[in-house]
Amino acid sequence: MSLLRVSHLSMSFGGVKAVDDVSFDIEPGKLLALIGPNGAGKSTCFNIVNGQLRPSRGSVMLDGEELVGMRPRDIWRRGVGRTFQVAATFNSMTVLENVQMALLSREKRLYGLWKPAASQFEEQALALLDQVGMAAHAQRACSVLAYGDVKRVEMAIALANRPKLLLMDEPTAGMAPQERNELMALTKRLAVERNIGVLFTEHSMDVVFASADDIIVLARGKLIAQGNAHMIRNDANVQAVYFGTGKTFQPRAPLSAGGGEAPMEPRA
Ligand code: ADP
Ligand code: MG
Repeated sequence: MSLLRVSHLSMSFGGVKAVDDVSFDIEPGKLLALIGPNGAGKSTCFNIVNGQLRPSRGSVMLDGEELVGMRPRDIWRRGVGRTFQVAATFNSMTVLENVQMALLSREKRLYGLWKPAASQFEEQALALLDQVGMAAHAQRACSVLAYGDVKRVEMAIALANRPKLLLMDEPTAGMAPQERNELMALTKRLAVERNIGVLFTEHSMDVVFASADDIIVLARGKLIAQGNAHMIRNDANVQAVYFGTGKTFQPRAPLSAGGGEAPMEPRA
């Protein structure tokens, strides 16, 4: 059984079919990239899975349980985590305190106990920060962190809830190419280690092709292609929807004469 099974999802806004009969599965420990031009319906899909939007049709099953109709908080409780969820308190606390708060909130949810001091979660919080490469920054205020480091703290916060599924809508927006690759490499490592399924969107095709196990392509709400990097790169429908949108797939010169596939890069 798949971790997440999305079937025949449809959602309209007025006359616009934002998502039109979309189905896909995610397995534990795997990264699925959802790509497509602006307005393709990617964020709408995310917001249906996390419960912010209710689809007009379709089903979202997590571990065999229907999520459609549940409140976002109940979906989160079942192990659907999101990055990009910066709490209002985020900037006023240190890196360590933010992760401690997230651990505390999980404990409270599981056992209904209010622990007045978060101190006992210090070790666990430091361990999580270590996993995302932020242990050295534990005592710093979040407000002074570099953008890429904020994303790593968000990852630690999401992991504190021990998610089964992580949703990352444009997690690397605003990052330099090197940072993008690092964040997705980290995500991939954590997903494999912790057996977490990941659904993400990403604009850089290089990053998608390097990190995703599987890719689905949306265009005007419809799923037009699905497969691994090699299949997507060579798909005529995918090339057609990206043609004229400012992103086209152009072969780059191979890095070595070793006969491997030439990586492709979207060209602005
Ligand atoms: P993407 O994330 O792929 O850029 P979206 O899911 O945000 O695409 O949008 C898909 C389509 O749905 C677009 O045509 C967009 O204008 C429309 N849309 C998205 N959200 C809303 C909304 N809340 N109200 C009206 N139209 C919306
Ligand atoms: Mg979007």
